[in-house]
Amino acid sequence: MTSNPVSTSSVDKIAIDDIDGLPTALLDAIPNPVLVKDEETRYVWVNAAFETLFEVRRQDLVGELDADLFPDRQAAQCNGGDLRVLATGEVDEAEETVVDPTLGDRITITRKSRLTVDGKNYLVGVMHDITDVTEANRQLAVVNRKLDEQAVELARLASTDPLTGCLNRRALFTQVNKLPSDRQVGVIVLDLDHFKSINDQYGHDTGDTVLSNFATMIRKILRTDEIFARTGGEEFVIVLPGASLDQTRQLAQRICTAVSSNPMTVGEQTLRVTVSAGATYGTSLDEAPIGDLVNDADTLLYKAKEGGRNRAVTV
Ligand code: GH3
Ligand code: MG
Ligand code: MG
Repeated sequence: MTSNPVSTSSVDKIAIDDIDGLPTALLDAIPNPVLVKDEETRYVWVNAAFETLFEVRRQDLVGELDADLFPDRQAAQCNGGDLRVLATGEVDEAEETVVDPTLGDRITITRKSRLTVDGKNYLVGVMHDITDVTEANRQLAVVNRKLDEQAVELARLASTDPLTGCLNRRALFTQVNKLPSDRQVGVIVLDLDHFKSINDQYGHDTGDTVLSNFATMIRKILRTDEIFARTGGEEFVIVLPGASLDQTRQLAQRICTAVSSNPMTVGEQTLRVTVSAGATYGTSLDEAPIGDLVNDADTLLYKAKEGGRNRAVTV
């Protein structure tokens, strides 16, 4: 394959300032504001974009310091780092807030570097207006924050029963799956007694209030690490991580006693509500999966109903 390199020799020989007027026209064609200062940080030259941004004329700037041209705060920002760049030749990049007389505050990044011509040092600053990008980023951050909040709220709604605030069935299993599978665990299944007759006698809304009050009562009894879910109409499951069989039995009994001995006031009615419980225990979730434990507890619950309700039956 033959290569056909572009010859640069003719380009090398043409210095840009050999072409009359081109350097100025070229710099004026650049959309970024460009400034040149001397060793005393006095303006030597600025391009057209700089004139537009600050609404100044370059001939009025020559020989002036930032302090002569701008309010103190802006002057301090503008010449920050100038002397260091001139002394060391290090490139300085700094964000500045520039007061544009027409557009208001603009956020810019000014890249300053040292240029040496005929033994004299100059400071060359090239400004980049990032106001729009900054504003777009800010708006994006606001939108992202809202989306994060909505995602958290959606996850909460998807895992929560709206009437009682309990976890729903799906969330119960999700939460249990997060537990260490090698620890003992207690499981209690609860079912309100003769709940249908509460609905029939006092109406569905009263039934709803009973369910909600019942859940509040149970939550007050439980510790925060204990998992409480509404798994059906008037059926609830409690999972007790790390609980022994005795602790599980005692809690089931305590719940039945607390519910039956605390009549609920709903509107003008005082209702005596009772609950039946089936309580079981596993030495670990590895050996007794949560589904099996819930089924076992359900069987025991059935026995509690058969035995006359308002009681806990345990393994
Ligand atoms: P048992 O003592 O044998 O458990 O009898 P029960 O009446 O509690 O049980 P059954 O299964 O016969 O009736 C449960 C009732 O719960 C029937 C249903 O209409 C009612 N129910 C289910 N979900 C809701 C709810 O969200 N709100 C209300 N108000 N009632 C509900
Ligand atoms: Mg019931
Ligand atoms: Mg039921």
